[in-house]
Amino acid sequence: MIESLKKQDVRKRCEEALQKAKEYQHVLNAVVTFYDIEEQLEGLNAIREDAPLYGIPVVLKDNINTKGVRTTASSRILDNYIPVYDAHIVEKLKAAGAVIIAKSSMDELGMGGTNRNAYTGKVNNPWDVTRISGGSSGGSAVLVASGAVPIAIGTDTGDSIRKPAAYNGIIGLKPTYGRISRYGVIPYASSLDHVGLFAAAVHDAAKALTVLAGRDDRDMTSSYEAVADYEKAINSDIGGKRIAVFDNVLEAIEDSRILDNFKQLCETLKKRGAIVEHVRLDDSLMNALVPVYFIISNAEATANHSNLDGIRFGMREDGDTMEEIMIHTRTKGFSSYVRKRFVIGSYSLFEENQEKIFRKAQKVRRKIVEELARVMNGYDVLLAPAASTVAPHDEDACEEKLSKTYLVAENHMVLGNFSGYPSMSVPTGFLEHMPIGINMTAHPFDEQSLFDIGAAIEEETGLKDKIAEVKA
Ligand code: GLN
Repeated sequence: MIESLKKQDVRKRCEEALQKAKEYQHVLNAVVTFYDIEEQLEGLNAIREDAPLYGIPVVLKDNINTKGVRTTASSRILDNYIPVYDAHIVEKLKAAGAVIIAKSSMDELGMGGTNRNAYTGKVNNPWDVTRISGGSSGGSAVLVASGAVPIAIGTDTGDSIRKPAAYNGIIGLKPTYGRISRYGVIPYASSLDHVGLFAAAVHDAAKALTVLAGRDDRDMTSSYEAVADYEKAINSDIGGKRIAVFDNVLEAIEDSRILDNFKQLCETLKKRGAIVEHVRLDDSLMNALVPVYFIISNAEATANHSNLDGIRFGMREDGDTMEEIMIHTRTKGFSSYVRKRFVIGSYSLFEENQEKIFRKAQKVRRKIVEELARVMNGYDVLLAPAASTVAPHDEDACEEKLSKTYLVAENHMVLGNFSGYPSMSVPTGFLEHMPIGINMTAHPFDEQSLFDIGAAIEEETGLKDKIAEVKA
């Protein structure tokens, strides 16, 4: 847990963090750009020692714009892109005394769940470097899991904070849609994108949310809802809390050891006085999660990234005409994985397809959100295992894309993006030396329930601040 720092200890703390991240780089490959922290350390002279993140080293996913510091979104097309302004959350972090030490690797433009689709190469899991970190916020996840920094920023469009958090044994929070401003964050799919964070302890996640949350006039989707002191308000006495167990997910998991760990957790929560009951969502709507997600996310991504054309930003390939420049730039600038997604996105946006593909997906999304609201009615959170396996060796955990395991157990967290409801992953144990965890989803702007129950879980598991030992 973050201890407050005195002025004289700050330099040492930040230099150590930077040193660790550098030492681990050849093993984890988590960083795109390291910072020179001198200027920020100097800047701290203007910040009060009691600022909430005073002197705390942090890491930003490389899709967060940082003035004067390369921001690539792990895509070749943005390899030389240097923003002329800071994202809102960068201003917030600096005002709170945080010191940014690095920009972390991600799946290109946020597309992917493995962190193998990064321009700088795959990111490795600190618990077992032959396994994936998960993505798309993989670099941020492993820099917290390896103890380099206590807090790292990520973004989450489908599960890109919560899945890697589970694979790396740390806390991963995606707050309510609109809770944190996205001004200055390179978008993926605007109706699904969230800024969130990783931490090694629930209290730290709560502290960081208080710093980051709040209305920002430059992001019209950001909320006016008051921001609480979430950390101070944490109450791990969860007597009377109403927890809905997400049965569809349990039924879609094959590994009995993951199910046993989860059942044990439910018993523990009951012993602490929580009311634990089982619910299920309509199966056909659950089966629609992945197709609806892919239609909406790819369509929005195609539109959002039409400005990456070699004319306005980033790298440029030669060509005799404007059109040729754009075609050559986009062909070389994006990986084939990303180009494939643009093809799918463009297809659903063709005039003749819009109604029957894109609009239909939006309508089904609405139905799914209504169904989620129905089953969560009367409960504080919806609870499920975060994933069906530990972090796999390569690619996705599940090869069979039409199986229940893939459609439901591996992708249920997208519910939090469809609905905008806040959602958090918390580690609950180990399976063959690899971390496993749960995911909880709460009602809009009720992040406090996530922290309260998360703190209770942490007390039971003893996994607070548990980090991986990396052999550098
Ligand atoms: N894996 C999902 C995708 O590839 C989610 C990514 C994310 O949340 N950014 O789109």
